[in-house]
Amino acid sequence: MDISEIKDWFDDFGPGPLFIAGPCSVESRSQVMDIATTLKQSCVPSLFRGGIWKPRTRPGTFSGVGSRGLKWLKDVKRETGIRLVVEIANPVHLEACLKEDIDVVWMGARTVSNPFSVQEIAEALKGVDIPVLVKNPLNPDVDLWLGALERINNAGIKRMAAVHRGFAPFERTRYRNMPKWEIPIELRRREKKLPVICDPSHMAGNSDLVPELSQKAMDLNMDGLMIEVHNNPPSALSDNKQQLSPGSYCSMMDNLVIRKSSPDDSGFTNQLDELRNQVDSVDNQLIELLSRRMEVIDMISDYKYSNNLAVLQMERWLEILDTRLNQAELSGLNKDFTERYLKLLHQESIRRQTLKMKDLKKEANGSVDNSPDD
Ligand code: PEP
Ligand code: MN
Repeated sequence: MDISEIKDWFDDFGPGPLFIAGPCSVESRSQVMDIATTLKQSCVPSLFRGGIWKPRTRPGTFSGVGSRGLKWLKDVKRETGIRLVVEIANPVHLEACLKEDIDVVWMGARTVSNPFSVQEIAEALKGVDIPVLVKNPLNPDVDLWLGALERINNAGIKRMAAVHRGFAPFERTRYRNMPKWEIPIELRRREKKLPVICDPSHMAGNSDLVPELSQKAMDLNMDGLMIEVHNNPPSALSDNKQQLSPGSYCSMMDNLVIRKSSPDDSGFTNQLDELRNQVDSVDNQLIELLSRRMEVIDMISDYKYSNNLAVLQMERWLEILDTRLNQAELSGLNKDFTERYLKLLHQESIRRQTLKMKDLKKEANGSVDNSPDD
């Protein structure tokens, strides 16, 4: 089943893209009031966000202030006129939000990853008229994301949008969550009328990277941004590395270039841009993987040094060549190209190991290096 009907609803929150700003977690009345009044003075967002119930990865960490925080948010709306968006993870949260006149709700990545939870919320949404934002699930599964949107739409919700917040990486990467831009592009290709906004804060995991990701989302012609803004980011009770101060949020927004879409834009972009974005995303992942490979190589150097093993182990190299060439052939890659690529990779690994082992030897000799230079 597809999404049957989507209403245009962003215009109710002002012209242009939908910009959402506010803290990861609501912490106190004065905290949300402080953030919202500063934003109101210099760069008022379309919606003010705040997490009331926090789905934390580890137990024992701050799990939100609970429903009393909804009253503080209500005060924010009364004082500033900025409307509110809050995360819900079950029907009880939804009911509490509706009771306190929360304007929009969102479903977080962890909730969207579980169709049972999504269905429970969808049942509770029947007969309710509130816009719903659906974040991408933790893993890059466009069907799971679309499935959640369909469940919500089937419950009668016509005002909806998807939020692209990136995907949990299986290895450590520059980003907390890998953007994999090709996934929202594919979602948009399948559901042309569905607005898709970007959450660069959770993607970045680090406030320094938020501006470039926000610009990238705007260059892709996404329909808005959700950004975590805290009055004192280092002291935030959750996600303290990735939140912006109201001042840096406003200057980032001042510098954001919002491009006009051209007539041949299909979904976010025209076809060539779309394909180039896919190449960018794949190259980005290739570089992350290469860097991860080199980190493992460094660990191998440590091991070989401690166990007095030689850098070059011919058998291992022949095995690598053989298994990778077989895999490459099955994947339709040119054999000659793959062989050249593997040799280059191997040479770099050897160079790196040799250097590392030399350093280790130096360290062991108390920085007096008596070894020959080669
Ligand atoms: C959040 O927005 O604070 C949050 C928990 O996001 P996500 O579901 O994307 O991890
Ligand atoms: Mn957060």
